[in-house]
Amino acid sequence: MLRRACKSMRKKTKQIAIGNVFIGDENKIAVQSMTNTNTEDYEATLQQVKRLVESGCEIIRVSFPSDRSVGLIPEYKKMFTVPLVADIHFDHTLAIKAIEAGVDKIRINPGNIGSDEKVRKVIHAARSHNIPIRIGVNGGSLPSNIDQNRDLLPVTIAAIKYIEFFHNEKFYDIIISVKMSDVTTTIKAYQEISSYCNYPLHVGITEAGTKHYGIVKSSVGIGAILSQGIGDTIRVSLTGDPVQEVSVAQNILKSLGLRKFGPEIIACPTCSRTKVNLEEIALLVEEKTKRLTTPITIAVMGCAVNGPGEAKHADIGVACGQGEGLLFRKGEIVKKVPEKQIVDELLQLIDTIAKEYENT
Ligand code: SF4
Repeated sequence: MLRRACKSMRKKTKQIAIGNVFIGDENKIAVQSMTNTNTEDYEATLQQVKRLVESGCEIIRVSFPSDRSVGLIPEYKKMFTVPLVADIHFDHTLAIKAIEAGVDKIRINPGNIGSDEKVRKVIHAARSHNIPIRIGVNGGSLPSNIDQNRDLLPVTIAAIKYIEFFHNEKFYDIIISVKMSDVTTTIKAYQEISSYCNYPLHVGITEAGTKHYGIVKSSVGIGAILSQGIGDTIRVSLTGDPVQEVSVAQNILKSLGLRKFGPEIIACPTCSRTKVNLEEIALLVEEKTKRLTTPITIAVMGCAVNGPGEAKHADIGVACGQGEGLLFRKGEIVKKVPEKQIVDELLQLIDTIAKEYENT
């Protein structure tokens, strides 16, 4: 039910093109990540970009902190198969050069660009090259002159101030983000900004941390925002290899029923009825099906008493018993197999279903 609820509740936002990817409106919620190599190191950055694309990243942000890195943009653009977003801080001339060099979107925090006139010049360049700008406000760098008396978070007030500034410049090709590292404040900020405007929102929890806690923070925060129908692109920010961010983002979208990315494995937590090494079976099935693109639900259950019943909505599954497993499809028993053959038999059945799916 939640899956349907999230889809139907999604707030309709303005459609914006980032290169060949459309976001907002009814377009799918796109998965973004960001490189963390030295952008002046072309080979290292390109290798990371390739790994990100292979893992399913749909929009890639790269920071360009120097003239030398900006000079590589034409080379990067030749090799990019997904939109390239330039992340620029402080120096508006780098933003203008990046736009002129052909990036598909620019992300700035107007608060650290220096002056209204400098922001105006970036807007002018983006308009001339017909690309959008993400106004990426974050709690750590808010302008000093915001009206704190309004009944809104400072980050929202700052975002509104920038949106009004862009409107005054008659620039509407905007994406907004109001990321912070505190989950509850970030959720509130996205609720507020979503009520205020219908620009596409890029959602994330910034500086979420290292893998374990960072995944929890991002899943809770991004999940809570998405489940309210808010968000058009997402990024999971984790310290370390950005490739790990992509599968987490996909899993957040998959778990809310907002996107389909290959199989979803359901596995019971096990209890005293479990008589097999269920964790091993579930991990093996997960590993062997991870490259499959068919959006099927696979259940790996620990007992034949409750298993098929508990997982009757799964497309296919196994309910394990003492030394054997019952394979079932849509809750109906297909066959009984010895424990040693459970994984192979299950994989064969999954393969059959995947072929059927491809032919439909
Ligand atoms: Fe226990 Fe069976 Fe439920 Fe697994 S499916 S938790 S083994 S009752």
